[in-house]
Amino acid sequence: MRYVSTRGQAAPASLSQAIAAGLAPDGGLYVPEAMPKVGALPRDGYLATTASRMLAPFFADDPLAAELDAICAEAFAAPAPRRELRIDGGHLLELFHGPTAAFKDFGARFLAACLTRLRRDENHPLTILVATSGDTGAAVGAAFHEVPGVRVAILYPDNRVSPRQAHQLGSFGGNVRALRVEGSFDDCQRLVKGALGDATLQADVPMSSANSISLGRLLPQMAYFGHAALQAASPMNTIVPTGNLGNAVACLWAKQTGLPIGEVVFACNANETLPEFYAGQPYRARDAVPTIANAMDVGAPSNFERLRHLFGNEDEARRHGHAERVDDAEIRDTIRRHAANDGEVFCPHTATAIRVFERLRLRGDTRAWTMASTAHPAKFDTIVEPLVGKRVEVPDPLAIMLARSASAEPMAADGRIFADWLRHW
Ligand SMILES: *Cc1c(COP(=O)(O)O)cnc(C)c1O
Repeated sequence: MRYVSTRGQAAPASLSQAIAAGLAPDGGLYVPEAMPKVGALPRDGYLATTASRMLAPFFADDPLAAELDAICAEAFAAPAPRRELRIDGGHLLELFHGPTAAFKDFGARFLAACLTRLRRDENHPLTILVATSGDTGAAVGAAFHEVPGVRVAILYPDNRVSPRQAHQLGSFGGNVRALRVEGSFDDCQRLVKGALGDATLQADVPMSSANSISLGRLLPQMAYFGHAALQAASPMNTIVPTGNLGNAVACLWAKQTGLPIGEVVFACNANETLPEFYAGQPYRARDAVPTIANAMDVGAPSNFERLRHLFGNEDEARRHGHAERVDDAEIRDTIRRHAANDGEVFCPHTATAIRVFERLRLRGDTRAWTMASTAHPAKFDTIVEPLVGKRVEVPDPLAIMLARSASAEPMAADGRIFADWLRHW
């Protein structure tokens, strides 16, 4: 299997090359040259086993293929259960049972498992850059912490992540450093993309990315959607809380390989780049606005390039998806109401998907839907606890991380200052 850039100006790459590079040399994102079809899979397999079989065609002809079982065993150590909600016809796909209590653990651990195998004999450390709106950084930090030959710079928008997220990001130390950037998540993304695309800087400081632009994070995210869909009675209609479009594109890729996934709907917060696009307006990236579902505060979703590439053009993309906007007041109302009525406590991101599901019901849609639950509510205690009127129990792995001390360094949203910082690390 070969991988090509969404911008079409870079030579095709092998899987290993694409994963090691992060971003294609023309600034585009790597996508499979052709989407393979996945053969029949057992309905009741273990997540790690199913993931390995599902991803095998993507690893064909690559040196990493021999390691795929081991990579999946490391990445899919936590379960991703799909369970019934008390809301009629609704299921929740719980993706928050990993070490940092958000779905990004799966992708980060998979990428780490791949990169450590690819870099085994190198003398130079590889610097992983990760821009985060909250959860990615912690997942990547946890996945690479104390891994030899690799170091991680986490960039997050200062004051725009939850206190517990900030604590997690700064809690690693050693080979993982946290930078609190004066700006938005999009500023963080610009710094990372700028550094990765700077050939002179690359020569001094070998770098790769761990954002959802990285193929090594996107591929494994297909696996839990596929695994869940195999368990559903009919093609699994799915609502995905969406920011940078990584999880949603992974779900669409899984569908394209022939897995039984039905409609895919993107639940967005007040950042309406995607809802506007799906309502028929031209795609227009913009600055992010802060919301209480902060890991989705994205105004210029990077994976939009992959979405457009997948369907060939924007009109075709619109025919295969749908996005809805959920504002903070609706998120709060959803969390409050479910805690009171059925005892379910959702994180603000998951609540956007629940809200979209409720709207579908109000419009007369009677189909079964599965909502991706992207984080544990305890990560957002300062928002969730006042709404539900009680303490939200902290899962063990999160409690361990919160018990450590934490610190982050300030960073201006300025590419030259950031490049300098990297050179002097
Ligand atoms: C990152 C994140 C999202 C958005 O996922 P994308 O892949 O960026 O669309 C949603 N919810 C949570 C909790 C997240 O951490």
